[in-house]
Amino acid sequence: MNIDLKQFANLQKASKDSFFEQKKLLKQVMLGKTVLCSQCQQALTLYTPEQGELTGIRCAKGCTDIALDFA
Ligand SMILES: [Zn+2]
Repeated sequence: MNIDLKQFANLQKASKDSFFEQKKLLKQVMLGKTVLCSQCQQALTLYTPEQGELTGIRCAKGCTDIALDFA
């Protein structure tokens, strides 16, 4: 099996970027700011443990679905 190292590096960079993207997004939603889904442009909603079992940030359509651990 051949591993394309360049491709692998790109993949790592992408996931690192999206991690920071998610952190930034999370911070804004936590501050009560309206953040729109990058896919469907609908407002993202923060789901806290008080609202149910599935905690995280999601849009109405579900294309953005960031699971959060409120432990
Ligand atoms: Zn969406």
